[in-house]
Amino acid sequence: MENAFDAFAKELNADYPGTAVFFGEPMRKHTTFRVGGTVSLFAEPKSIEAFVWAARELKRRQLPCLIMGNGSNLLFSDGPHTLAVLSTARLDTLRLSGDSIISGAGVLLSRLASAALEACLTGLEFAHGIPGSLGGGIYMNAGAYGGELRDVVEAVTYLDSGGALRTVPCDECGFGYRHSRFEDTGEAILSAAIRLRPGDPREIKEKMDDLSRRRREKQPLNYPSAGSTFKRPQGDFAARLIEEAGLKGLTVGGAQVSEKHAGFIINTGNATSADILSLMDKVKEKVYLHSGVVLEPEVRVIP
Ligand SMILES: Cc1cc2nc3c(=O)[nH]c(=O)nc-3n(C[C@H](O)[C@H](O)[C@H](O)COP(=O)(O)OP(=O)(O)OC[C@H]3O[C@@H](n4cnc5c(N)ncnc54)[C@H](O)[C@@H]3O)c2cc1C
Repeated sequence: MENAFDAFAKELNADYPGTAVFFGEPMRKHTTFRVGGTVSLFAEPKSIEAFVWAARELKRRQLPCLIMGNGSNLLFSDGPHTLAVLSTARLDTLRLSGDSIISGAGVLLSRLASAALEACLTGLEFAHGIPGSLGGGIYMNAGAYGGELRDVVEAVTYLDSGGALRTVPCDECGFGYRHSRFEDTGEAILSAAIRLRPGDPREIKEKMDDLSRRRREKQPLNYPSAGSTFKRPQGDFAARLIEEAGLKGLTVGGAQVSEKHAGFIINTGNATSADILSLMDKVKEKVYLHSGVVLEPEVRVIP
């Protein structure tokens, strides 16, 4: 199959010269956990046209493909993975239109929130400290401090499973807690319109600074991680249950339940994916035995 990836890459570069393509690329270089084995091919198409061509062509050739944003919610196993990864990093155009921002899927949420501040628009302050892309954020309905992307998404343009470009309004995105329809369908999010409201730039900045300070105080930001490892169970908090089960500091190899925030599993330096996955299993089992609650991973595992 490796030859098939090679042939695909040659055609991609013939049609879209200068596309960054890497073979046998280690995913630790592209994920905030800093772990993960190699993938057969990693490509960063430079435009929506190139991206759409690549996604359609991989499907036509029946080559397995994963769309990725900033890799801040992904845990690749130690691999190797027979897989093409299409990164949205270069789908990074951003344009203001009245009270809306039209943004490529690869734009980082921090940049989007800063652009909103610059345009005196409020509504995205909650997203400033989430280290993901807009596409990855929509996929997960990312949220923090009482805000979620579904509160601000006006419409999403995506590539459907039949290879057609479609735009749907927010209420057709199937948003739920850390969930959207895109998680079920695997369709590639290409861009979105974000609807905000006029606001006072001083207040917007103050709110963003306050949330950043709260993150720095509570979260182990100096270690690689994927943020909260588990989803919030109904009516409770994963971190509270993990702490109550006495699991802060629990370690497998280089993976550790953070002492600072029990909801985070961190890579203390030399963790493997196997260490992290094994620690996740232990935490799940011990929390279940202690409180009867079944924790569900928030981080997306690529086996
Ligand atoms: C320190 C830290 C703090 C965090 N804090 C928060 C927080 O407060 N709130 C929160 O919700 N999350 C948080 N996260 C998790 C993460 O940042 C979010 O889930 C973010 O939305 C993931 O975006 P991404 O671009 O990195 O997605 P990736 O990790 O690249 O991908 C995640 C999933 O989305 C899919 N995907 C990505 N882009 C697209 C696309 N364009 N089309 C279709 N599918 C796509 C991928 O296939 C994958 O399944 C945190 C992570 C870290 C490391």
